Formats: sequence, C-alpha cells, structure tokens
Amino acid sequence: MEMRPASSRVSSAGPADWFTGPVWMDELAALPGTAVRALRVTFSPGARTAWHAHPGGQVLHVVDGVGRVQSAGGPVRQLRAGDTVVAGPGEQHWHGAAPDQLMSHVAISAGDPATGGPTVWAEHVSDEDYRAEPEPLES
Ligand code: MN
Repeated sequence: MEMRPASSRVSSAGPADWFTGPVWMDELAALPGTAVRALRVTFSPGARTAWHAHPGGQVLHVVDGVGRVQSAGGPVRQLRAGDTVVAGPGEQHWHGAAPDQLMSHVAISAGDPATGGPTVWAEHVSDEDYRAEPEPLES
C-alpha cells in the first residue's frame, strides 16, 4: 500500500491549451497497470476546461463551491458540492467553476482501456456557451 500524505502533494497550474482561466491540478494517484488517474482540480471563478473527451470515461465529484458542466448537445447544468457526474467513454464535455464562485472537484479519469490513450482535447468553451443560464443537475 502506498501512502500519499497531503504534505507531499504538489499543485500545478492547468495548461492554457486545456483550460480557460486559472486552474490548479493536484494529482492524487495513478493506479499502476491501468489508465486510471485521480486528480483534485480547483477552478477559479469563470475558469473551465476546454471541450474534451476521456477514452475510458470520467467520474467527477464536486468537493467545494459551485460549478457548471455540459455534455455536447445538452444543456449547461449547475454543480454543487456533493454532486457527482459520470461522463461516458468518448463523451464530449466540459466542466468548470461558476462565473462568480470557485469549484473544486475530484476527477477520476480513465484512458483508453486497450491502449491507455489519454484525454482528447478540442476547442476552448466560448464565453457564449459558458454563460448560458444553467439548469439544475436534477432535471
Ligand atoms: Mn472531463
């Protein structure tokens, strides 16, 4: 068993190719022999990922703040601490903070189960798409 104390964790800034606005990423762990990684990601108000897809899917669990998530072709939905979202393999989506509030989530992401292929990144989320009035997660 590998122990990973909080004091050993290093925060790295999210790359501008993948994010709009300031984002901090802390790797929690990667499961050896798999394409599964767990990260804590904290988005500043207004910050969000670019559109992207995870070849093996992703679980997002919001641990703090208020955020937004959208699957391609669907509405923008509001996220709050305690909410969990599952993106299917290859499902195009984005996630981020609300315009005036930060959001922190744990992300458990799986690469391609066969090849380990990583997240596939696409264009940034436009301000127009980002600022659409969000619907509740429940609807
Ligand atoms: Mn994602």
